[in-house]
Amino acid sequence: MTRCIWCLEERNEAQPVEHIVPEALGCPEPLVLRRGEVCGGCNTRVSRLDARLAHEHELFTFFGRVRGKAGKPPTIASIGNAAGGRADGGYGFHVNMSKQAKHSTFGRKVAPYRGQRRDVKMEFQEPLPPGGGVASVTMRFELYPDRSYTRAIFKIALEALTFYRCADCVCLGDFDHVRDYVIRDQGDLRAIMLSRDGSPSDYQSGVAYAEGAAAMILIQLGPLAYYVDLTRDQADHKKVVATALARGQTTGWTELPKLDT
Ligand SMILES: [Zn+2]
Repeated sequence: MTRCIWCLEERNEAQPVEHIVPEALGCPEPLVLRRGEVCGGCNTRVSRLDARLAHEHELFTFFGRVRGKAGKPPTIASIGNAAGGRADGGYGFHVNMSKQAKHSTFGRKVAPYRGQRRDVKMEFQEPLPPGGGVASVTMRFELYPDRSYTRAIFKIALEALTFYRCADCVCLGDFDHVRDYVIRDQGDLRAIMLSRDGSPSDYQSGVAYAEGAAAMILIQLGPLAYYVDLTRDQADHKKVVATALARGQTTGWTELPKLDT
């Protein structure tokens, strides 16, 4: 018998495998928990948070060519005026900047550009370089790292701590506040999100446990990384934020959740 780290009920091992990083975000092969460490019911509960994260990261996983569950090729199904999918043996990506919906070559309808935060914005370099140079196009997209997004990050972090330490250690009352936050949507916890350098096709996911820290987890999801302090008082988190601000480092990172999203 194993105890589920989310509901703390004893379970036999006839339970589904729980991927620490959502499969749609490219969970590395060994990053799964032992059967029973997350029960079937909680697996379903946290899968809603996984889906939220996967949806938010669709552009990253699409350009990183991250295959999802059972090798499913990546698509962009629901990001405002953008769509992406398999086309002509390869991949196609469409951004609709017009005011009418369009049909993509891979059979998906692409919504019109409405200037909403969810839309992908394309900026063309103007004027074009003289003498027929190469024009450049910049694509901008805003993430919504709100409370649900942050809860999904804490889900990965507590499961990572289970992986690096043990299920029994994580079932202690020391982590009840994380269960309240992730499963019951109660309490307020903060994490740090940082942007990483690298091309979109150089996509990697992973988690690491910072040795020496009480319970600090480092998560990497493609071009973004997260520092997650799982302790109740989040003293290390506060220290990292205070140090960055004291050094005048105000770009390249943000605190989650973003309260204005
Ligand atoms: Zn459970």
